[in-house]
Amino acid sequence: MDFSYSNELLEIKRNAREFAEKEIRPHVLEWDEGQIFPREVLAQLAGLGFLGILVPAEYGGAGLGYLEYVTIVEELSRVDGSIGISVAAHISLCTGHIFTFGTEEQRRRFVVPLAKGEKLGAWSLTEPEAGSDAGGTQTTARRDGDSWILNGQKTFTTHGTYGDICVAMAVTDKPAGHHGISAFIVEKGTPGFYAGKKENKLGLRASDTSTVVFDDCRIPKDNLLGEAGHGFIDALTVLDGGRISIAALALGMGQGAFEAALKYSKQRKQFGRAIADFQAIQFKLADMATEIDAARLLTHRAAWMQDQGMKTTAQSSMAKLYAGEAAVRAANECVQIHGGYGYIKEYPAEKYYRDVKLCTIGEGTSEIQRMVIARELLKD
Ligand SMILES: Cc1cc2nc3c(=O)[nH]c(=O)nc-3n(C[C@H](O)[C@H](O)[C@H](O)COP(=O)(O)OP(=O)(O)OC[C@H]3O[C@@H](n4cnc5c(N)ncnc54)[C@H](O)[C@@H]3O)c2cc1C
Repeated sequence: MDFSYSNELLEIKRNAREFAEKEIRPHVLEWDEGQIFPREVLAQLAGLGFLGILVPAEYGGAGLGYLEYVTIVEELSRVDGSIGISVAAHISLCTGHIFTFGTEEQRRRFVVPLAKGEKLGAWSLTEPEAGSDAGGTQTTARRDGDSWILNGQKTFTTHGTYGDICVAMAVTDKPAGHHGISAFIVEKGTPGFYAGKKENKLGLRASDTSTVVFDDCRIPKDNLLGEAGHGFIDALTVLDGGRISIAALALGMGQGAFEAALKYSKQRKQFGRAIADFQAIQFKLADMATEIDAARLLTHRAAWMQDQGMKTTAQSSMAKLYAGEAAVRAANECVQIHGGYGYIKEYPAEKYYRDVKLCTIGEGTSEIQRMVIARELLKD
């Protein structure tokens, strides 16, 4: 057992924190209020090598692992979860799916520009009628000569509007059920592929979440990703990695909320003393810190297992479930510790409170995580 971090990891953590404090923190409120997606920040993150963190150097990435990846997502989300979710969708969902299941030609063509951050990635599984039950996908793809023709609609796609490369799941063989769904790579600008409604969200308002539409969208046959009929099964593997990054997103926001609460509790005076002197407040801080630490350990264990090439279905879900719910509790207590000032926008508490709720919903709700964990526990 070794709980210490390597110097390289600590250096990455420092760089990510410095970037977030300097380039993100000053704009957080403005982007949130205006629902502005700061595309240029993603370009800057690419410049730091962060967007290709998991991709080997020969495909334009940094060739590092999940521990480095979750550290970056945590540090960015500590300041703004909108940037954290953007990075997570780009790296573990879109890029991860193509890198893991793509052909050599697809890796060269799509992963290289994604890893370099020249292109932004999106990943579309959820549909209006197929959320938790994503196997109920209704979007279809039918073969026509050298092409596939896609029809249907996806909802809640992160980077639905700004994404350049979208991985989308569609039914290719309906009677085969979950084994009849395939994954496809669709490029921005393809006729019949466009962004629909941009969602007006409770939180993470600077992230781009939109409907995407496929209207007789014709793509080359070579844009089939992985084996025909294997798209949904592959997507579940992709989510094993993705859920670790959502745990890191939660962790970052929980940590940010804790730090804001700690700072405020030392400054705010009532009854002639700092509110941090009251045991009721101290116990809240102690619970927040303990739960965030436990969430970090679960997240880092799942990340470490991914880096060892181990199966992490249960551990990813445990990390995501616990970190998401612990961060929601931390943000709630952060508002409580701020009193009335927690309710207004001059303080960061209310934004953490709004943003963090996504973590018990996206990439599988808490209920679905419990189902996944129980299924793994009950396996022979
Ligand atoms: C900001 C944001 C970004 C997102 N980004 C992406 C993205 O990039 N790509 C993508 O594909 N999707 C994305 N999503 C979609 C997200 O993954 C889904 O919203 C989520 O999986 C839940 O699906 P749903 O919204 O349809 O809820 P539903 O499935 O309708 O669930 C509603 C409620 O019912 C519960 N429920 C459902 N089934 C069961 C069951 N069997 N047992 C017990 N309870 C159950 C759920 O837990 C939930 O509480 C995003 C969502 C948001 C809000």
